[in-house]
Amino acid sequence: MKFLKSAIGILLFTLLVSVAWPQNQPPPASSSTKTVDELGLQVQDQTKDRSNQGNDQNRDPQTAPPQTSAGNGAGGAQADSETTVSPKEAKELFRSVDEILQFASQDTGLPIKHKVKRRLAKRDEVQSYIEKSFKDDKDAKRLERSSEVLKKFGLLPRDFDLSNFLVAMLREQVAGYYDEKTKTVNLLNWLIAEQQKPVLAHELTHALQDQSFGLEKWMRGSAEGKDKKDKNREDPSPADVENDEETSARQAVVEGQAMVVLYDYSLAPQTLLNSPQIVEALKQSMLVGTPDSPKFRDAPIFLKEELTFPYRYGLDFTVALLRAGGKELAYAGAFQNPPKTTREIMEPKTYLAHEKLEPVKMIDMEKDLKDYVPFDIGAMGEFDVDVLVEQYAGQDQATAIYPEWRGGYYFSGKPKANPSAPLALLYVSRWSNAAKAAEFAAIYAKSLAQRYQKRQGLGTDGKIAEDAPPADSWRTLRGRHAWRTEEGVVVIEVRGDAVLISEGLDDDTTKTVEADFWPEEKAAPAKP
Ligand SMILES: [Zn+2]
Repeated sequence: MKFLKSAIGILLFTLLVSVAWPQNQPPPASSSTKTVDELGLQVQDQTKDRSNQGNDQNRDPQTAPPQTSAGNGAGGAQADSETTVSPKEAKELFRSVDEILQFASQDTGLPIKHKVKRRLAKRDEVQSYIEKSFKDDKDAKRLERSSEVLKKFGLLPRDFDLSNFLVAMLREQVAGYYDEKTKTVNLLNWLIAEQQKPVLAHELTHALQDQSFGLEKWMRGSAEGKDKKDKNREDPSPADVENDEETSARQAVVEGQAMVVLYDYSLAPQTLLNSPQIVEALKQSMLVGTPDSPKFRDAPIFLKEELTFPYRYGLDFTVALLRAGGKELAYAGAFQNPPKTTREIMEPKTYLAHEKLEPVKMIDMEKDLKDYVPFDIGAMGEFDVDVLVEQYAGQDQATAIYPEWRGGYYFSGKPKANPSAPLALLYVSRWSNAAKAAEFAAIYAKSLAQRYQKRQGLGTDGKIAEDAPPADSWRTLRGRHAWRTEEGVVVIEVRGDAVLISEGLDDDTTKTVEADFWPEEKAAPAKP
C-alpha cells in the first residue's frame, strides 16, 4: 500500500537507535566499545515488553524497562530541559564524522568519493524540515488518500488524524538525518554528543550510498527513465501497483544497510554478523518503542509496523545477504540488483534464488470501473497482507499466512454520480494454493465484524438470508459470499488460488469486474 515513503525515509527514529546507546552516561570517546551484554540486556527487557503488546490501549507502563538510555532528555517532549551540545562537544563530533565515515566505508565496502558536509541543527529547524517534507505537494495529497483507504481497510481508526500524528511522532523521535538534497549530515544540538555517534554511522552510510548510487534517483526505481510525465503524475494509475512494492523494497535496502552499520559500529570490535543472538531481539525492540516514545507506543498496529518495516526487515535482509555472499552482495550488490517486492525483503531466500512470480492478472480498471473516479490504486504486497492479517486475526495467523502470498492489488474510488458516497474498494489477491486462498478469505470475512456495524448475509438471489452464518464464523471460505453493510454490499469470491473482494461497488460494476477477472470460467458454460 501507499504510505508517505519519501518524506520519512531519511529520518532516523530515536527508538530505532536507543538500544545502541550506552545505558548511563556516555563513556569517554576512547572506550566507546560496548559489549554484547550491555546491548543485549536492554534489548531483552524490551522484548519481554512485546509479549504484552496484544492490546495496544492497555499496555501497562510498568512493564517498560526501568531505565533507558534515552531517558535523560533525549526524547522529544521536554523542550525546556533539553541537553544542548556544547561548542567543544560539537567540535569533537564534527571531527568524528571523518573517522566514522571511514568506518562505514570499510564496513560496507562502499568507497568514500568525497567529504560529507556536516552541520548542527536546532530543534525548530528540524521541526520545520519535517513539516516541509509533509507539505511537499503531492506527498500531502497522497497521505490524505492513503489515510482514507487505510481507514476503509480498518487499519486506522476512522477519526485518526494521520498527518498530525506523523508530524508529532517524528518530532518526538527524530535522531538525525542525512539531507540528500544538500548532501549534508545533520546532527542535533539537543541530543547527547556521544549518543549521536551510532546515529552518524547510520547517516553516513546513507551518504556513501548516495555517493555511489545517487539515492534520490535510485529511490524512484524503475519508473525513472520511463515516461517523463508519468513520473510526476499525481493521479492514481495501475502503474502504482508495481511502484508501491518496489519503493518499499528499495527503502528497506537503504535503511537495512544503515542499521547494520549502526550496530556494527556500536558492537565494534564485534559485528552484528558474529552476534546473531541479538539480531532478532533488536528487531523486536524496534517495534515496541521506548517509554519516552509515547506517540509511537500508542500508535495503531499498522503505523508501528509500517514505520519500522524498512529498518527491521531491511536489517534482516542485509544480514542474510552478508551471510550468503559477503559485503559485495549485501551492499553494492543490493543496489545494482535491487529487490522488487516486500516478499524478497521478508524472505531473502526468494531474492537469492531469483524467484519469479507470475504477475497477478490485472483487470481493465479504466473500462470495468468507468463509473468510478479513482481515488487510490496500489499494491497489496506480502508485507501489506502481514499487517492486514495481524490487524484482523492476530500476529500468529499473520506470520503463518504471509509467506503464502503470491500477489495482489487494490483499487479504491467514488461513484462519479455521487462523490460524497463512502469509498468503494476492489481487492484482488493470489495465494500459493487454493487452501491458503480459502483461509485468507475467511480471515478477511472476519474483518467485516471489525469494520462494519451492519453485515447481513445475502443469499444467491441477493436478498437477506436470515439463516446465514455470521461473517466471522468461517475457518475457510470458498465460492461467492455477499453481505449487506451500511456502506453497501461486500462480496468475497474465492476460486482456486485467487480471491476477489468488492466493497461498496454497485452490482453491475461488481459483475463486470468478475467477468473480466474470471473470463474463461464465465465463458465455459456457453461452449458446446
Ligand atoms: Zn536511515
